[in-house]
Amino acid sequence: MPLKFKNKQCTGCHLCELVCSAYHFGEFAPNRARIRVNNHPLEGQSEVMACFSCPDAPCIAACPQDAISRLGPRQPLSVDPAQCDGCNGNPACVPACPYDAMYFDTATLYALACDLCGGDPQCVKFCYPGAVSLSNGKTPAVEANATTTNSPVEGKKMNDHREKSRILWRRAAKVMPLGVSSNFRYWGDDETLVAEKAQGAYIWDVDGNRYIDYRLGFGPVILGHAYEEVDAQVRDAIRNGVVYAFTSPLEISVAEKIVAMCPGVEAVRLTNTGTETILHALRVARAYTGREKLIKFEGQYHGMLDYVLFSTYTDVNAYGSRRSPVPVPSTSGIPRSVHDLVITLPFNDFEVLEATLRRAWHDVAAIIVEPILGNCAAIEPLPGWLEFIRAKCNEYGIVLIFDEVKTGFRLARGGAQEVYGVIPDLATYAKSLGNGYAVAAFGGRREVMNVVGVGVVCGGTYAGNTVGVAAADATLSLLQEQPILETIAGRGRRLQAGLKRIFADAGIPVLITGHPNMFAFNVGVEKLTDQRDWSKSDHQYYERLIAAAIERGVMPDPDPREPWFLCYSHSDADIDETLNVMEDVVRAVKR
Ligand code: PLP
Repeated sequence: MPLKFKNKQCTGCHLCELVCSAYHFGEFAPNRARIRVNNHPLEGQSEVMACFSCPDAPCIAACPQDAISRLGPRQPLSVDPAQCDGCNGNPACVPACPYDAMYFDTATLYALACDLCGGDPQCVKFCYPGAVSLSNGKTPAVEANATTTNSPVEGKKMNDHREKSRILWRRAAKVMPLGVSSNFRYWGDDETLVAEKAQGAYIWDVDGNRYIDYRLGFGPVILGHAYEEVDAQVRDAIRNGVVYAFTSPLEISVAEKIVAMCPGVEAVRLTNTGTETILHALRVARAYTGREKLIKFEGQYHGMLDYVLFSTYTDVNAYGSRRSPVPVPSTSGIPRSVHDLVITLPFNDFEVLEATLRRAWHDVAAIIVEPILGNCAAIEPLPGWLEFIRAKCNEYGIVLIFDEVKTGFRLARGGAQEVYGVIPDLATYAKSLGNGYAVAAFGGRREVMNVVGVGVVCGGTYAGNTVGVAAADATLSLLQEQPILETIAGRGRRLQAGLKRIFADAGIPVLITGHPNMFAFNVGVEKLTDQRDWSKSDHQYYERLIAAAIERGVMPDPDPREPWFLCYSHSDADIDETLNVMEDVVRAVKR
């Protein structure tokens, strides 16, 4: 039981006991929060015993004598002030302490340590400069086989190599909801990884574990992480400043490249994120048609904008009948009035789209569609589906928007438009456009784009900023000049074929969906044309399988909706290693 006290000042008033919730509930089990005052009348002093398991330690505030302190009478471990550099005010030892007992002394600028951990001080392990050590001068060994019990592999304990991630995540969670900047990155309190660096096809967490990366930041990394040609152009460009509030030659070059590469794009505007491009494209469509509603398809995700956050990740049982689907908001906080502007329909359903348009076309400004369902297992359009939407948009004067945020500059130089030969009125791009740098664009038919600037606003302080456009210019040049996407597709086909073989050998039915550069495998289903079908695939097994793969250094996203992304830096050897790992996990994880 960890004890911290300043017993000489304790007068035995017992106020601390009164506020200790654990005391109230009579929970004196070992390792639970407790506080107790032992009076020693003969010695003329009392002793406070406290543990501080609770985060707010009300006993400290309650004590009129200031006799209880988190800091306690430290038995300083060896802290070498010459070596302690305070980690630039960001000391790793402080969050590493499971007892919240470390603090950073801003006066002396070095960490003081106590010995609450009974000889296994985490602060020592996590001190990067090695300034904190046990009094005997030794560094506690990081146990290679420390275990947790939640291994996805039956009968096997999982090696716990994620200690630093957990500690840093706890620190993050104190100042960021869920400890992340995007909800999609939260994998659970103990599972959420903290990344250290990424290079080529690999990503490392802060514990030094290396993974072959098939998440690739949710898709943008098309060449590879830290790709030198792109980074070099960014470095060169930013020497001349990053934001001008003027058009720059580099920006013009990027716009020209997009127009040259994407079949339906005659004019383009640059933005920073996918969400922003969707916002602008929808506004342009509404302004062009003078109508307000939009049609989107179930399972498709178009960013964080209120108008499109409907029927994305929700349970399909809430979607209602496929003949009259219910738009289900994916979040609280969307104004009620917005609900009436959205019509959600199942993907690939010709009949329901036809019937809906016959009834509601006069209110519909836009049909927005991910040509491949990039946010639901990369489900492909049925033959004729995109052509059908195109024809209906022509018939009813509706603006067709292809959301190519995931497919653009990934499936082909001209994105899904090139692959499927269907030309939308507007298209949105982000992700692969800048190989991971924040840059995005929307563009399309000149007649539609021409409303921009003529009564229709479109802009942003960082639109066309040097960092983004330099990255986009370099990335697009490489994609134009070299057979990069074809090379990726070759490796993707090898990976798909290998996975098919592995599952076939194991007698597990899987369906591979998508494009070799961005695909998914779905367990236990024979047909997938929309999110309703997808919901019948075996997600639990997929998640256990991927957790085991991640444990072995292969990292697709654990969410079965998120495709596997490939990049130019994935080598044949990476594909081989991935297949070996997958063979291993399919054998180990029982369905
Ligand atoms: N559209 C699609 C198809 C996406 O996949 C995403 C993000 O994943 C977005 C839009 C939103 O892009 P961003 O996250 O850059 O705002």
